Amino acid sequence: MPKSAKEVRKMLEDREKSREGRGKDMWFPGLKQGFTVLRLGQPWAGDDGDFWKDRFFHGGYKNKVFCAKNEIDKETGKPRKCKVCRAYKALKGDQSSFARRLSKLIFQRSESLWNVVAAKFKERHGKIEVTGVDDPKKFQILQMSYKWTQDLQDIFGEEEYREKSELGVTDPKVGMWIRVRRRGKEMDTKYDFKVLDNPCPISEDKSERKEIEKTLIDLDAVVKGSSDEELEAFLEKMTHKAKKGKGSDSGSSDDKHKSSSSGSSDDKKKSSSSSSDDKKSNSKKSSSSSEDKTAKEVYKEMKKSLEKGSKKKGSSSDDKKKGSDDKKKKDSSDDKKKSSSSDSSDDKKKSSDDSGS
Ligand SMILES: [Zn+2]
Repeated sequence: MPKSAKEVRKMLEDREKSREGRGKDMWFPGLKQGFTVLRLGQPWAGDDGDFWKDRFFHGGYKNKVFCAKNEIDKETGKPRKCKVCRAYKALKGDQSSFARRLSKLIFQRSESLWNVVAAKFKERHGKIEVTGVDDPKKFQILQMSYKWTQDLQDIFGEEEYREKSELGVTDPKVGMWIRVRRRGKEMDTKYDFKVLDNPCPISEDKSERKEIEKTLIDLDAVVKGSSDEELEAFLEKMTHKAKKGKGSDSGSSDDKHKSSSSGSSDDKKKSSSSSSDDKKSNSKKSSSSSEDKTAKEVYKEMKKSLEKGSKKKGSSSDDKKKGSDDKKKKDSSDDKKKSSSSDSSDDKKKSSDDSGS
């Protein structure tokens, strides 16, 4: 049975409370080069709950906003309506280069959040030996991009890890540690995961284990949508960008570069990279129709068509599907983008800033 409006309000209030008082070390710092050994947390909402939490967002590294659908509307008890998802939907079928550029800039993507504890370990002849729990000896949130999420999820599809417990590798007593290896830098970052296949408690010290178990984070409470104002500002900014011919979603990779370098000549530098070809061909084609309008005008028009579109708009799951279809396409077509957006350390830093507000 769906929750009543009152129950939903209560739930949201509780979430707000649980968000307060959380320190800055709520987020797991970026995975280092080489080996890290992690324990994944069990479902935070009871044994039938999820092992991880999907979080939907729009945009790249610098212009990231969180999809409103991440959040339950207090009034209706349903996911909040997302202006950006609606805009994306309204652009479907529009073959203009502007529409295609904007679609690429705003489509919905996902990442996943996990409860993790890190281990202290020794490495001997390529074998990992866990020697204890690493500080801060509590669960923190690890954020993984879509691509690496699937690799982690695969672990839960393996029957052999569930033999001792339905909780599989996350069981605090008979679960298993996971060795993560990070190789390469920036756009070439790659991770691989290996289950260290000897069931053991998180900590041999029972009271320490209990203390750690208590720190499991309610990931439903962490995942929010950006405000309508933020989403609208994002949409306007991306419309402006698309209008200027900045189509490809190089947002993640290029933005990252920008931020790690001096960050001065941002826009120029950007269009001179991967999106430059796009730009040349697009600006020629689009010169007829929308070239003379200002970004604001284009945005206004789009808004109008949005309003029209939203009336016949059905369920939100449709949107989601389309978003992730697109995402899959992107992921397979653009390897460069993939690995850069999966650079979880940088992404994470950003998102912890975001969620800290
Ligand atoms: Zn959205």
